[in-house]
Amino acid sequence: MIIANWKMNKGLVQSQQFVEELKAYVEKHKVVNADIVICPPFTSLEAVSRKIAGTAIKLGAQNMFYQTAGPFTGEISGGMLKSCGCEFVILGHSERRQHFGETNLTVNKKVLKALDEGLKPIICIGENLQEHDDKLTEPVIEEQLAVALTHVSEVDIANVTVAYEPIWAIGTGKNATPHQAEGVHNFLRKKLKKMYSDEISKNARIVYGGSINPENAKELFASPSVNGGLVGGASLEVESFVKIINSTHLI
Ligand code: PEP
Repeated sequence: MIIANWKMNKGLVQSQQFVEELKAYVEKHKVVNADIVICPPFTSLEAVSRKIAGTAIKLGAQNMFYQTAGPFTGEISGGMLKSCGCEFVILGHSERRQHFGETNLTVNKKVLKALDEGLKPIICIGENLQEHDDKLTEPVIEEQLAVALTHVSEVDIANVTVAYEPIWAIGTGKNATPHQAEGVHNFLRKKLKKMYSDEISKNARIVYGGSINPENAKELFASPSVNGGLVGGASLEVESFVKIINSTHLI
């Protein structure tokens, strides 16, 4: 699974141009080896949805609120995302936690609401640089995972993707090594086994995010415990994004 997180980039015209180019590529090369999910800003969701209709490309949003409707100025509900054609929604991205005060608890409320609305959450977890240096990665992400998945049933967990995104690797050009990513993903699987079952842990979709680029993608995706990537900066250009998609063939 390769997810493009455009963050606060691309207006309508740029979004549509990108998707036209990506669509032509996917159709020409019959890309079947990866689930491709594009997460544009809210303002481009509907236009992108129209462009990708009938293709293998899927649509996701970058956030949503946990209420259904009402006096929540500036917020977007899960139902609204569904009505724009979204199948996925990124929740708990570290930039939301850092700049908009999201906590593990609010992430959990969003996860439950997304599942209730029939959306597939992509839950972002990861430690910051200080926690990484203090060797606190495991307790930090264990807490993030456990709280985010509170009251998520054994049935619904099949629709959840976990994105391990070490904060020190996001937009910094410093990616985790394939070995580090594999170690953390295996740790997360162990936790999922304890929370759910062996089967759920084995089938869980866990992707890595943090400075993925065409040069490091193949190595990062090489471990069977890494089921793909959440790509920020390198998803903004079709050429680099396509190279990253292609890295999944090369394994
Ligand atoms: C992200 O936005 O989730 C991300 C991983 O960004 P980047 O690839 O730019 O580090």
